[in-house]
Amino acid sequence: MSIGAAGGTFDPQQALSQHVLKNFYIGGDWVTPESNRELELISPVTEECFLKLPEASEKDVDRAVRAARQAFDHGPWPRMTPQQRAKYVLAIGEEMKKRVPLLADVWTAQIGAPKGFAGYIINYAPQLFDYYGKIGARGDFVETRDMLNGGKALVIREPVGVVAIITPWNAPMVLTSYGVAAALTAGCTIVSKPAPETPIEGQLLAECAEAVGLPPGVLNVVPAGREVGDYLINRPEIDKVSFTGSVAGGKRIAEVCAKRLARYTLELGGKSPAVIMDDADLNTAIGTIVPFGMPMTGQICFSLTRVLVSKKRHDEVVDAYSKAVKQIAVGDPWKAETQMGPLSMKRQLDRVMGYLEKGRQDGAKLVTGGGRPKDMNLGYYVEPTIFANVDSNMTIAKEEIFGPVVSVMPYEDEEDAIRIANNSTYGLSGAVFTKDPEKGIALARRIRTGNLTVNGLKLDNAVPFGGFKESGIGRVGGPEGLDAYQEIKSVYLPG
Ligand code: NAD
Repeated sequence: MSIGAAGGTFDPQQALSQHVLKNFYIGGDWVTPESNRELELISPVTEECFLKLPEASEKDVDRAVRAARQAFDHGPWPRMTPQQRAKYVLAIGEEMKKRVPLLADVWTAQIGAPKGFAGYIINYAPQLFDYYGKIGARGDFVETRDMLNGGKALVIREPVGVVAIITPWNAPMVLTSYGVAAALTAGCTIVSKPAPETPIEGQLLAECAEAVGLPPGVLNVVPAGREVGDYLINRPEIDKVSFTGSVAGGKRIAEVCAKRLARYTLELGGKSPAVIMDDADLNTAIGTIVPFGMPMTGQICFSLTRVLVSKKRHDEVVDAYSKAVKQIAVGDPWKAETQMGPLSMKRQLDRVMGYLEKGRQDGAKLVTGGGRPKDMNLGYYVEPTIFANVDSNMTIAKEEIFGPVVSVMPYEDEEDAIRIANNSTYGLSGAVFTKDPEKGIALARRIRTGNLTVNGLKLDNAVPFGGFKESGIGRVGGPEGLDAYQEIKSVYLPG
Protein backbone atom coordinates (compact mmCIF):
# COMPACT_ATOMS: atom_id res chain seq x y z
CA MET A 1 0.00 0.00 0.00
CA SER A 2 1.30 3.42 -0.91
CA ILE A 3 0.66 6.39 1.36
CA GLY A 4 -0.42 9.80 0.26
CA ALA A 5 -2.84 11.18 -2.25
CA ALA A 6 -1.62 11.82 -5.80
CA GLY A 7 2.13 12.26 -5.73
CA GLY A 8 2.74 10.03 -2.70
CA THR A 9 5.21 7.30 -3.63
CA PHE A 10 6.39 5.92 -0.30
CA ASP A 11 5.51 2.31 0.31
CA PRO A 12 6.28 1.54 3.98
CA GLN A 13 6.15 -2.24 3.56
CA GLN A 14 8.73 -2.09 0.81
CA ALA A 15 10.88 0.70 2.24
CA LEU A 16 11.09 -1.00 5.63
CA SER A 17 11.30 -4.59 4.44
CA GLN A 18 15.00 -4.85 5.31
CA HIS A 19 14.55 -3.37 8.79
CA VAL A 20 13.58 -4.99 12.08
CA LEU A 21 10.14 -3.78 13.10
CA LYS A 22 8.55 -6.64 14.98
CA ASN A 23 11.11 -7.13 17.78
CA PHE A 24 12.49 -4.77 20.42
CA TYR A 25 16.16 -3.90 20.78
CA ILE A 26 16.93 -4.84 24.40
CA GLY A 27 20.24 -5.97 25.91
CA GLY A 28 21.95 -5.89 22.51
CA ASP A 29 19.46 -8.35 20.96
CA TRP A 30 16.26 -8.11 18.97
CA VAL A 31 13.88 -9.75 21.41
CA THR A 32 10.33 -10.99 20.92
CA PRO A 33 7.73 -8.71 22.56
CA GLU A 34 6.30 -10.05 25.82
CA SER A 35 2.73 -9.24 24.78
CA ASN A 36 0.72 -9.02 21.57
CA ARG A 37 -0.17 -5.34 22.03
CA GLU A 38 -0.03 -3.32 18.81
CA LEU A 39 0.41 0.28 17.75
CA GLU A 40 -1.61 1.32 14.71
CA LEU A 41 0.14 3.91 12.56
CA ILE A 42 -2.45 6.13 10.88
CA SER A 43 -1.50 8.22 7.87
CA PRO A 44 -2.64 11.83 8.42
CA VAL A 45 -3.10 12.06 4.63
CA THR A 46 -5.32 9.03 4.04
CA GLU A 47 -6.64 8.64 7.62
CA GLU A 48 -5.94 4.92 7.22
CA CYS A 49 -3.73 2.55 9.16
CA PHE A 50 -0.64 1.87 7.06
CA LEU A 51 1.40 -0.22 9.48
CA LYS A 52 0.96 -2.11 12.74
CA LEU A 53 3.94 -2.47 15.04
CA PRO A 54 4.29 -4.09 18.45
CA GLU A 55 3.81 -1.92 21.51
CA ALA A 56 6.04 -2.54 24.52
CA SER A 57 4.37 -3.79 27.70
CA GLU A 58 5.43 -3.41 31.33
CA LYS A 59 7.30 -6.73 31.05
CA ASP A 60 9.29 -5.42 28.08
CA VAL A 61 10.11 -2.30 30.09
CA ASP A 62 11.29 -4.48 33.02
CA ARG A 63 13.59 -6.31 30.66
CA ALA A 64 14.95 -3.07 29.16
CA VAL A 65 15.51 -1.49 32.57
CA ARG A 66 17.32 -4.62 33.82
CA ALA A 67 19.55 -4.62 30.73
CA ALA A 68 20.40 -0.93 31.09
CA ARG A 69 21.08 -1.31 34.84
CA GLN A 70 23.30 -4.33 34.25
CA ALA A 71 25.21 -2.47 31.51
CA PHE A 72 25.73 0.51 33.79
CA ASP A 73 26.66 -1.39 36.96
CA HIS A 74 28.74 -4.17 35.42
CA GLY A 75 29.34 -3.41 31.73
CA PRO A 76 32.28 -1.62 30.14
CA TRP A 77 30.42 1.50 28.99
CA PRO A 78 30.61 3.89 31.98
CA ARG A 79 34.16 2.76 32.67
CA MET A 80 35.47 3.46 29.16
CA THR A 81 37.34 6.69 28.55
CA PRO A 82 35.31 9.44 26.89
CA GLN A 83 37.53 8.98 23.83
CA GLN A 84 36.65 5.28 23.59
CA ARG A 85 32.95 6.05 23.85
CA ALA A 86 33.27 8.89 21.34
CA LYS A 87 34.24 6.42 18.62
CA TYR A 88 30.88 4.68 19.01
CA VAL A 89 28.96 7.96 19.19
CA LEU A 90 30.60 9.25 16.00
CA ALA A 91 30.01 5.89 14.29
CA ILE A 92 26.29 5.97 15.20
CA GLY A 93 26.14 9.40 13.55
CA GLU A 94 27.68 7.91 10.39
CA GLU A 95 25.19 5.03 10.40
CA MET A 96 22.37 7.52 10.86
CA LYS A 97 23.56 9.57 7.90
CA LYS A 98 23.13 6.49 5.70
CA ARG A 99 19.49 6.33 6.83
CA VAL A 100 18.69 10.05 6.45
CA PRO A 101 16.42 9.68 3.37
CA LEU A 102 14.47 6.88 5.05
CA LEU A 103 14.24 8.79 8.34
CA ALA A 104 12.80 11.76 6.45
CA ASP A 105 10.28 9.54 4.67
CA VAL A 106 9.04 7.83 7.82
CA TRP A 107 8.66 11.26 9.44
CA THR A 108 6.39 12.32 6.58
CA ALA A 109 4.54 8.99 6.58
CA GLN A 110 3.82 8.88 10.30
CA ILE A 111 2.89 12.47 11.04
CA GLY A 112 2.74 14.38 7.74
CA ALA A 113 5.88 16.54 8.04
CA PRO A 114 6.30 18.09 4.56
CA LYS A 115 8.93 16.20 2.61
CA GLY A 116 11.09 19.30 2.04
CA PHE A 117 11.06 20.26 5.72
CA ALA A 118 11.71 16.70 6.91
CA GLY A 119 14.53 16.20 4.41
CA TYR A 120 16.33 19.26 5.69
CA ILE A 121 15.67 19.18 9.46
CA ILE A 122 16.41 15.46 9.83
CA ASN A 123 20.11 16.27 9.34
CA TYR A 124 20.13 17.84 12.81
CA ALA A 125 19.91 14.30 14.23
CA PRO A 126 23.21 12.80 12.96
CA GLN A 127 24.83 16.21 13.49
CA LEU A 128 24.15 15.81 17.23
CA PHE A 129 26.10 12.53 17.29
CA ASP A 130 28.96 14.27 15.44
CA TYR A 131 28.84 17.19 17.85
CA TYR A 132 28.80 15.22 21.11
CA GLY A 133 31.19 12.61 19.72
CA LYS A 134 33.73 15.36 19.10
CA ILE A 135 33.25 16.71 22.63
CA GLY A 136 33.82 13.18 23.98
CA ALA A 137 36.91 12.77 21.79
CA ARG A 138 38.48 15.76 23.54
CA GLY A 139 38.15 13.71 26.73
CA ASP A 140 38.21 16.59 29.17
CA PHE A 141 35.77 15.24 31.78
CA VAL A 142 38.41 15.45 34.53
CA GLU A 143 39.80 18.78 35.64
CA THR A 144 42.65 19.24 38.11
CA ARG A 145 41.82 22.28 40.17
CA ASP A 146 44.02 24.36 42.47
CA MET A 147 42.51 24.69 45.93
CA LEU A 148 42.24 28.08 47.62
CA ASN A 149 44.11 26.85 50.69
CA GLY A 150 46.77 24.91 48.87
CA GLY A 151 46.77 21.49 47.25
CA LYS A 152 44.77 20.12 44.33
CA ALA A 153 41.48 18.39 43.72
CA LEU A 154 40.08 16.52 40.75
CA VAL A 155 36.68 17.66 39.56
CA ILE A 156 35.29 14.71 37.64
CA ARG A 157 32.17 14.58 35.49
CA GLU A 158 30.72 11.10 35.90
CA PRO A 159 27.69 9.65 34.11
CA VAL A 160 24.42 10.15 35.99
CA GLY A 161 23.44 6.48 35.55
CA VAL A 162 20.54 4.75 33.82
CA VAL A 163 18.49 7.27 31.89
CA ALA A 164 14.92 7.02 30.58
CA ILE A 165 14.60 9.18 27.45
CA ILE A 166 10.98 9.93 26.64
CA THR A 167 10.15 11.75 23.43
CA PRO A 168 7.07 13.04 21.58
CA TRP A 169 5.93 12.39 18.03
CA ASN A 170 6.48 15.77 16.37
CA ALA A 171 10.22 15.56 15.63
CA PRO A 172 11.07 12.11 16.91
CA MET A 173 14.57 11.45 15.60
CA VAL A 174 15.98 14.90 16.30
CA LEU A 175 14.52 15.08 19.82
CA THR A 176 15.67 11.55 20.68
CA SER A 177 19.15 12.33 19.36
CA TYR A 178 19.57 15.33 21.69
CA GLY A 179 19.25 12.96 24.62
CA VAL A 180 20.83 9.79 23.29
CA ALA A 181 23.96 11.44 21.80
CA ALA A 182 24.65 13.41 25.00
CA ALA A 183 23.81 10.53 27.37
CA LEU A 184 26.08 8.10 25.49
CA THR A 185 28.92 10.62 25.46
CA ALA A 186 28.57 11.07 29.22
CA GLY A 187 28.69 7.28 29.79
CA CYS A 188 25.05 6.67 30.71
CA THR A 189 23.00 3.68 29.67
CA ILE A 190 19.58 4.29 28.18
CA VAL A 191 16.00 3.12 27.98
CA SER A 192 14.43 5.11 25.14
CA LYS A 193 10.63 5.28 24.96
CA PRO A 194 9.49 6.66 21.61
CA ALA A 195 5.96 8.04 21.29
CA PRO A 196 3.34 5.50 20.20
CA GLU A 197 2.60 7.50 17.03
CA THR A 198 6.23 7.41 15.83
CA PRO A 199 7.91 4.14 16.77
CA ILE A 200 9.88 3.62 13.53
CA GLU A 201 12.70 6.04 14.35
CA GLY A 202 13.50 4.13 17.56
CA GLN A 203 13.91 0.92 15.57
CA LEU A 204 16.24 2.65 13.09
CA LEU A 205 18.28 4.20 15.91
CA ALA A 206 18.65 0.76 17.51
CA GLU A 207 19.80 -0.57 14.15
CA CYS A 208 22.56 2.10 14.10
CA ALA A 209 23.63 1.09 17.62
CA GLU A 210 23.76 -2.55 16.60
CA ALA A 211 25.71 -1.76 13.43
CA VAL A 212 28.50 -0.05 15.39
CA GLY A 213 28.66 -2.82 18.03
CA LEU A 214 27.49 -0.74 20.98
CA PRO A 215 27.93 -2.94 24.09
CA PRO A 216 24.78 -4.86 25.11
CA GLY A 217 22.27 -2.97 27.25
CA VAL A 218 23.73 0.49 26.63
CA LEU A 219 20.73 1.44 24.45
CA ASN A 220 17.34 -0.23 24.79
CA VAL A 221 14.23 0.89 22.91
CA VAL A 222 10.63 0.30 24.05
CA PRO A 223 7.98 2.13 21.98
CA ALA A 224 4.79 2.57 23.99
CA GLY A 225 2.11 4.94 25.18
CA ARG A 226 1.69 7.06 28.28
CA GLU A 227 0.75 4.32 30.78
CA VAL A 228 3.78 2.19 29.99
CA GLY A 229 5.89 5.37 30.02
CA ASP A 230 4.60 6.10 33.49
CA TYR A 231 5.52 2.59 34.55
CA LEU A 232 9.04 3.19 33.21
CA ILE A 233 9.64 6.44 35.09
CA ASN A 234 8.49 4.79 38.31
CA ARG A 235 11.17 2.07 38.14
CA PRO A 236 13.60 2.67 41.00
CA GLU A 237 16.50 1.54 38.76
CA ILE A 238 16.07 4.69 36.64
CA ASP A 239 18.46 7.39 37.88
CA LYS A 240 17.31 10.13 35.57
CA VAL A 241 14.38 10.95 33.29
CA SER A 242 14.85 13.11 30.23
CA PHE A 243 11.40 14.14 29.05
CA THR A 244 10.25 16.08 25.99
CA GLY A 245 6.53 16.69 25.74
CA SER A 246 3.60 18.54 27.25
CA VAL A 247 3.61 20.60 30.42
CA ALA A 248 1.13 18.17 31.99
CA GLY A 249 3.50 15.30 31.23
CA GLY A 250 6.46 17.25 32.57
CA LYS A 251 4.70 17.95 35.87
CA ARG A 252 3.95 14.27 36.26
CA ILE A 253 7.62 13.41 35.65
CA ALA A 254 8.70 15.95 38.27
CA GLU A 255 6.22 14.55 40.79
CA VAL A 256 7.32 10.95 40.27
CA CYS A 257 11.04 11.77 40.29
CA ALA A 258 10.68 13.89 43.43
CA LYS A 259 9.64 10.81 45.42
CA ARG A 260 13.04 9.20 45.01
CA LEU A 261 14.98 12.35 44.11
CA ALA A 262 15.76 10.96 40.68
CA ARG A 263 17.24 13.56 38.33
CA TYR A 264 15.09 14.93 35.55
CA THR A 265 15.21 17.41 32.71
CA LEU A 266 12.13 18.69 30.92
CA GLU A 267 11.69 20.14 27.42
CA LEU A 268 8.09 21.31 27.32
CA GLY A 269 5.76 23.53 25.36
CA GLY A 270 5.80 27.17 24.35
CA LYS A 271 3.76 30.23 23.44
CA SER A 272 6.61 32.20 21.98
CA PRO A 273 6.42 35.91 21.13
CA ALA A 274 7.67 37.67 18.01
CA VAL A 275 8.04 41.32 19.05
CA ILE A 276 7.99 43.71 16.08
CA MET A 277 9.30 47.16 17.03
CA ASP A 278 8.17 50.24 15.11
CA ASP A 279 11.53 50.64 13.39
CA ALA A 280 11.59 47.00 12.20
CA ASP A 281 11.95 46.06 8.59
CA LEU A 282 8.55 44.52 7.86
CA ASN A 283 9.86 42.22 5.12
CA THR A 284 12.34 40.64 7.54
CA ALA A 285 9.69 40.28 10.24
CA ILE A 286 7.06 38.79 7.93
CA GLY A 287 9.72 36.65 6.23
CA THR A 288 10.39 35.07 9.63
CA ILE A 289 6.96 34.83 11.20
CA VAL A 290 5.38 33.23 8.14
CA PRO A 291 7.57 30.10 8.23
CA PHE A 292 8.20 30.13 12.00
CA GLY A 293 4.75 31.15 13.23
CA MET A 294 3.36 27.81 12.21
CA PRO A 295 6.19 25.49 11.08
CA MET A 296 5.11 21.91 10.47
CA THR A 297 1.44 22.91 10.73
CA GLY A 298 2.26 24.66 14.01
CA GLN A 299 3.36 21.45 15.72
CA ILE A 300 6.80 22.64 16.75
CA CYS A 301 7.46 23.76 20.31
CA PHE A 302 9.38 26.95 19.35
CA SER A 303 6.73 28.33 16.94
CA LEU A 304 6.27 32.12 17.13
CA THR A 305 2.58 31.99 17.95
CA ARG A 306 2.14 35.45 19.48
CA VAL A 307 3.00 38.33 17.17
CA LEU A 308 3.32 41.58 19.12
CA VAL A 309 3.04 44.82 17.21
CA SER A 310 2.33 48.44 18.19
CA LYS A 311 -1.22 49.71 17.89
CA LYS A 312 0.12 52.15 15.30
CA ARG A 313 1.37 49.41 12.98
CA HIS A 314 -1.13 46.68 13.92
CA ASP A 315 -3.33 46.89 10.83
CA GLU A 316 -0.40 47.28 8.46
CA VAL A 317 1.31 44.19 9.90
CA VAL A 318 -1.90 42.15 9.95
CA ASP A 319 -2.51 43.06 6.33
CA ALA A 320 0.99 42.07 5.17
CA TYR A 321 1.03 38.95 7.34
CA SER A 322 -2.36 37.67 6.16
CA LYS A 323 -1.45 38.27 2.51
CA ALA A 324 1.70 36.17 3.01
CA VAL A 325 -0.09 33.42 4.96
CA LYS A 326 -2.70 33.07 2.20
CA GLN A 327 0.17 32.13 -0.13
CA ILE A 328 1.22 29.12 2.01
CA ALA A 329 0.80 25.99 -0.09
CA VAL A 330 -1.28 23.59 2.01
CA GLY A 331 -1.52 20.04 0.75
CA ASP A 332 -0.10 16.58 0.35
CA PRO A 333 3.14 16.52 2.40
CA TRP A 334 4.78 14.22 -0.13
CA LYS A 335 4.68 16.89 -2.83
CA ALA A 336 7.78 19.05 -3.15
CA GLU A 337 5.79 22.27 -3.44
CA THR A 338 3.83 21.71 -0.21
CA GLN A 339 4.72 24.08 2.59
CA MET A 340 2.11 22.92 5.09
CA GLY A 341 0.83 19.38 5.40
CA PRO A 342 -2.01 18.04 7.52
CA LEU A 343 -2.08 17.99 11.30
CA SER A 344 -0.53 14.79 12.53
CA MET A 345 -3.52 12.98 13.94
CA LYS A 346 -7.25 13.18 14.53
CA ARG A 347 -6.82 14.25 18.15
CA GLN A 348 -4.67 17.17 16.95
CA LEU A 349 -7.36 18.18 14.44
CA ASP A 350 -10.04 18.09 17.15
CA ARG A 351 -7.80 20.10 19.48
CA VAL A 352 -7.07 22.81 16.92
CA MET A 353 -10.70 23.08 15.77
CA GLY A 354 -11.66 23.55 19.43
CA TYR A 355 -9.22 26.47 19.78
CA LEU A 356 -10.48 28.07 16.55
CA GLU A 357 -13.97 28.05 18.02
CA LYS A 358 -12.69 29.41 21.35
CA GLY A 359 -10.89 32.28 19.59
CA ARG A 360 -14.12 33.31 17.87
CA GLN A 361 -16.14 33.02 21.08
CA ASP A 362 -13.60 35.16 22.96
CA GLY A 363 -14.02 37.93 20.39
CA ALA A 364 -10.67 37.76 18.60
CA LYS A 365 -10.83 39.03 15.04
CA LEU A 366 -10.43 36.20 12.54
CA VAL A 367 -8.31 37.59 9.73
CA THR A 368 -7.59 34.55 7.65
CA GLY A 369 -8.20 30.80 7.85
CA GLY A 370 -10.30 29.53 10.72
CA GLY A 371 -11.41 26.13 9.47
CA ARG A 372 -10.71 23.22 7.17
CA PRO A 373 -9.55 24.07 3.62
CA LYS A 374 -12.30 23.80 1.05
CA ASP A 375 -12.26 20.57 -0.98
CA MET A 376 -9.81 18.90 1.41
CA ASN A 377 -11.99 16.66 3.47
CA LEU A 378 -9.71 13.64 3.49
CA GLY A 379 -6.65 14.08 5.71
CA TYR A 380 -6.33 16.15 8.88
CA TYR A 381 -5.90 19.47 7.08
CA VAL A 382 -6.64 22.83 8.64
CA GLU A 383 -6.15 26.33 7.24
CA PRO A 384 -3.27 28.51 8.43
CA THR A 385 -5.08 30.94 10.69
CA ILE A 386 -4.45 34.42 12.03
CA PHE A 387 -6.44 36.12 14.75
CA ALA A 388 -5.87 39.88 15.22
CA ASN A 389 -6.47 42.28 18.10
CA VAL A 390 -5.96 39.43 20.51
CA ASP A 391 -5.92 40.24 24.20
CA SER A 392 -3.54 38.55 26.69
CA ASN A 393 -6.48 37.16 28.64
CA MET A 394 -7.95 35.24 25.72
CA THR A 395 -7.44 31.48 25.81
CA ILE A 396 -5.84 31.46 22.34
CA ALA A 397 -3.17 33.88 23.64
CA LYS A 398 -2.46 31.87 26.77
CA GLU A 399 -2.52 28.21 25.81
CA GLU A 400 -0.29 26.27 23.45
CA ILE A 401 -2.53 25.34 20.52
CA PHE A 402 0.06 23.19 18.70
CA GLY A 403 -1.55 23.99 15.36
CA PRO A 404 -1.25 26.64 12.61
CA VAL A 405 -2.89 29.43 14.60
CA VAL A 406 -1.15 32.73 15.37
CA SER A 407 -2.45 35.60 17.53
CA VAL A 408 -1.50 39.16 16.61
CA MET A 409 -1.47 41.24 19.81
CA PRO A 410 -1.31 45.05 19.87
CA TYR A 411 0.93 46.90 22.38
CA GLU A 412 1.05 50.54 23.49
CA ASP A 413 4.79 51.10 23.76
CA GLU A 414 8.05 49.23 24.35
CA GLU A 415 7.35 48.61 28.06
CA ASP A 416 3.93 47.24 27.20
CA ALA A 417 5.47 44.98 24.56
CA ILE A 418 7.84 43.48 27.14
CA ARG A 419 4.99 43.11 29.63
CA ILE A 420 2.84 41.22 27.10
CA ALA A 421 5.77 39.08 25.93
CA ASN A 422 6.43 38.06 29.54
CA ASN A 423 2.77 37.62 30.42
CA SER A 424 2.87 33.88 29.82
CA THR A 425 3.37 30.76 31.88
CA TYR A 426 5.67 29.63 29.07
CA GLY A 427 9.18 30.83 28.24
CA LEU A 428 10.68 28.79 25.43
CA SER A 429 11.57 30.85 22.38
CA GLY A 430 11.02 34.23 20.80
CA ALA A 431 12.17 36.84 18.32
CA VAL A 432 12.68 40.59 18.36
CA PHE A 433 12.60 42.68 15.18
CA THR A 434 14.28 46.10 15.04
CA LYS A 435 16.75 47.90 12.79
CA ASP A 436 18.91 48.64 15.86
CA PRO A 437 20.86 45.48 16.84
CA GLU A 438 21.87 46.93 20.26
CA LYS A 439 18.27 47.64 21.08
CA GLY A 440 17.34 44.16 19.84
CA ILE A 441 19.80 42.52 22.23
CA ALA A 442 18.65 44.72 25.12
CA LEU A 443 15.01 43.75 24.47
CA ALA A 444 15.92 40.07 24.06
CA ARG A 445 17.55 40.17 27.50
CA ARG A 446 14.36 41.45 29.08
CA ILE A 447 12.15 38.69 27.69
CA ARG A 448 11.98 35.69 30.02
CA THR A 449 12.50 32.85 27.56
CA GLY A 450 15.34 30.38 27.03
CA ASN A 451 16.00 31.26 23.38
CA LEU A 452 15.65 34.46 21.39
CA THR A 453 16.74 35.63 17.96
CA VAL A 454 17.18 39.22 16.85
CA ASN A 455 15.64 39.70 13.39
CA GLY A 456 14.93 36.05 12.64
CA LEU A 457 14.63 32.66 14.25
CA LYS A 458 17.66 30.44 14.62
CA LEU A 459 18.47 27.15 16.29
CA ASP A 460 21.86 25.49 16.35
CA ASN A 461 23.04 22.26 17.92
CA ALA A 462 26.09 23.98 19.47
CA VAL A 463 23.86 26.46 21.32
CA PRO A 464 21.77 25.38 24.34
CA PHE A 465 18.01 25.13 23.88
CA GLY A 466 15.39 24.94 26.61
CA GLY A 467 12.78 26.76 28.57
CA PHE A 468 12.22 29.25 31.37
CA LYS A 469 9.12 28.89 33.54
CA GLU A 470 6.74 26.08 32.50
CA SER A 471 8.63 25.51 29.25
CA GLY A 472 11.08 23.28 31.02
CA ILE A 473 14.04 22.59 33.24
CA GLY A 474 17.54 22.07 31.83
CA ARG A 475 18.99 22.46 28.38
CA VAL A 476 19.63 20.31 25.33
CA GLY A 477 22.31 21.04 22.75
CA GLY A 478 25.66 22.69 23.31
CA PRO A 479 28.06 21.59 26.07
CA GLU A 480 25.21 22.46 28.48
CA GLY A 481 23.21 19.56 27.02
CA LEU A 482 25.86 17.21 28.38
CA ASP A 483 25.55 18.59 31.93
CA ALA A 484 22.14 16.96 32.22
CA TYR A 485 23.75 13.51 32.00
CA GLN A 486 26.66 14.07 34.37
CA GLU A 487 27.16 14.10 38.14
CA ILE A 488 30.09 16.09 39.45
CA LYS A 489 32.48 14.36 41.81
CA SER A 490 35.32 16.10 43.66
CA VAL A 491 38.33 14.03 44.68
CA TYR A 492 40.82 15.78 46.96
CA LEU A 493 44.35 14.69 46.17
CA PRO A 494 46.82 13.74 48.88
CA GLY A 495 49.50 16.20 49.88
P1 NAD B 1 2.88 14.32 25.75
O1 NAD B 1 3.37 14.88 27.04
O2 NAD B 1 1.47 13.84 25.70
O3 NAD B 1 3.76 13.05 25.34
C1 NAD B 1 5.15 13.14 25.09
C2 NAD B 1 5.80 11.80 25.34
O4 NAD B 1 5.72 11.52 26.73
C3 NAD B 1 5.13 10.61 24.66
O5 NAD B 1 6.13 9.65 24.35
C4 NAD B 1 4.21 10.07 25.74
O6 NAD B 1 3.90 8.70 25.57
C5 NAD B 1 5.06 10.30 26.97
N1 NAD B 1 4.36 10.47 28.24
C6 NAD B 1 3.30 11.27 28.49
N2 NAD B 1 2.97 11.20 29.80
C7 NAD B 1 3.88 10.38 30.38
C8 NAD B 1 4.08 9.91 31.71
N3 NAD B 1 3.29 10.28 32.72
N4 NAD B 1 5.11 9.09 31.95
C9 NAD B 1 5.94 8.72 30.96
N5 NAD B 1 5.78 9.10 29.67
C10 NAD B 1 4.76 9.92 29.40
O7 NAD B 1 3.18 15.38 24.65
P2 NAD B 1 2.69 15.39 23.13
O8 NAD B 1 1.37 16.02 23.06
O9 NAD B 1 2.86 14.06 22.52
O10 NAD B 1 3.81 16.36 22.49
C11 NAD B 1 3.59 17.68 22.22
C12 NAD B 1 4.17 18.55 23.32
O11 NAD B 1 5.58 18.40 23.36
C13 NAD B 1 3.92 20.01 23.08
O12 NAD B 1 3.55 20.63 24.28
C14 NAD B 1 5.27 20.52 22.60
O13 NAD B 1 5.46 21.90 22.79
C15 NAD B 1 6.19 19.69 23.40
N6 NAD B 1 7.54 19.67 22.79
C16 NAD B 1 8.57 20.34 23.41
C17 NAD B 1 9.83 20.37 22.82
C18 NAD B 1 10.98 21.10 23.47
O14 NAD B 1 12.13 20.84 23.08
N7 NAD B 1 10.76 22.00 24.41
C19 NAD B 1 10.03 19.72 21.62
C20 NAD B 1 8.97 19.08 21.01
C21 NAD B 1 7.72 19.05 21.61
